[in-house]
Amino acid sequence: MRAFITGANRGLGLELTRQYLQRGDTVFAAVRQPAEATELHELEQAYSDRLYIVPLDVTQENSIRSAVQAVAATTDGLEILLNNAGVYPHAGSGDAQQRLGQLTAEDAVETMMVNAIGPLLVAQALLPLLRAGRKARIISLSSGYGSLTWKASGDPYHYSASKAAMNMYMRSLAADIGHMGLISVVVDPGWMRTDMGGAHATQDPADSARGIIRLAEQLHAEENGSFVTWQGQPVPW
Ligand code: NDP
Repeated sequence: MRAFITGANRGLGLELTRQYLQRGDTVFAAVRQPAEATELHELEQAYSDRLYIVPLDVTQENSIRSAVQAVAATTDGLEILLNNAGVYPHAGSGDAQQRLGQLTAEDAVETMMVNAIGPLLVAQALLPLLRAGRKARIISLSSGYGSLTWKASGDPYHYSASKAAMNMYMRSLAADIGHMGLISVVVDPGWMRTDMGGAHATQDPADSARGIIRLAEQLHAEENGSFVTWQGQPVPW
């Protein structure tokens, strides 16, 4: 199997990369700063025949085009796209700057570009390679904050809105690609101990990665366009 993973240098993306490689799969690990991706370069030593580090900033259309060209020069198809890269502005600040009274256009636009528009453009650009793969899946990392149902005072405005927008983009995409034999779902990975989730989070990203890999393998056509947890439970929109 051939996987393309964005934000592969740390957190959940790195775990997904490690576990796909351990299973014997091929990984295109897309990162903003390849030179600084220390852990990926360590993995490269063990898996030089199956790990390709691809420069990618998901907010830059030129960068997306170059990344797709780099993959196409190496392989003729992909079986999985993991839209994993994401930002949570002012993580660690107690969300104060994503609350009413502190909101800025700059934070809103950056978050929307990385978390919603980037994943859509990456999926669009990789579509020919995914169609050429065997039963390809698009898994996009969402969040419970993106649910319109689960809303509470104090939730982060920009992050929540960006994940809800990403959910809608991916639902539109799912409606367009189902007849091609492709499946797209959005997945809440749980609250993970990563740079974004912080040290007090409840979940080991290795467990989330294991669950997401299993989920991707077991997806059926009727689940195209759904919103589920890393364990496959439905999440209310
Ligand atoms: P991290 O903050 O640990 O890692 C984020 C990754 O995204 C990094 O690799 C980062 O690269 C990359 N990234 C950020 N901006 C861009 C960009 N413009 N182009 C390309 N890559 C970019 O996040 P997690 O591993 O915790 O989260 C993974 C996904 O899961 C995200 O989509 C997140 O929203 C979602 N999620 C996380 C939860 C959690 O508890 N951690 C909970 C629910 C959802 P760089 O190193 O260059 O900054």
